[in-house]
Amino acid sequence: MKKILIGTHNKGKFKEISFLISKKIRKINPTLLKIPSPKETGKTFTSNSKLKANFFSQYVDFPVISDDSGLCIRALNQKPGVYSARLAKRHGSFLKAMKYILNKMKNKKNRSATFVCSLSFKLPKKKPINVIGKIKGSISYNIIGKNGFGYDPIFIPDNYNKTFGEMQKSKKIRIDHRFIAFRNLKKKVKIL
Ligand code: IMP
Repeated sequence: MKKILIGTHNKGKFKEISFLISKKIRKINPTLLKIPSPKETGKTFTSNSKLKANFFSQYVDFPVISDDSGLCIRALNQKPGVYSARLAKRHGSFLKAMKYILNKMKNKKNRSATFVCSLSFKLPKKKPINVIGKIKGSISYNIIGKNGFGYDPIFIPDNYNKTFGEMQKSKKIRIDHRFIAFRNLKKKVKIL
């Protein structure tokens, strides 16, 4: 495999996914090819990542990888979940969405949360291959850290005492939900 389209317009995700794929493979950004974004109509991470892989694959004749990910908070009925990106959009920024979440969590005793990532890899004219990766943790009491993206500053992974936003980027991308999903994908797709 010489090149792969990374099916996301999110800069943070593009960087993280690029890092996980072999250096020998050229990573193509859909923004450069002026490919639009699909409508995320799925109700699960897997249905959305498959939908994205199928969508982006229509525009190129080489392999595509896409993900759908989000933060599931137990005390909020696993929300924002698949709506993680849309929650930030609705509030105008991730900062405002994080403030909204911390406010909702004010009186909650259980602060457990899980970052989930569904990855789909698709060869031209084939069905996508799907895997899931999860990392468990808890929601912090404050917004802490300037590293990373999205909800990183309010998520503390289990066995650590820092938020993803405080961690070195090089550390976070070696333990997170995307990394775990990727490890699972590499078991199925040897060419990555
Ligand atoms: P989508 O997969 O494009 O629907 O977007 C998922 C959203 O979940 C992102 O925009 C982020 O808000 C959030 N998210 C997913 N993975 C991470 C992560 O590793 N750190 C922080 N936020 C994340």
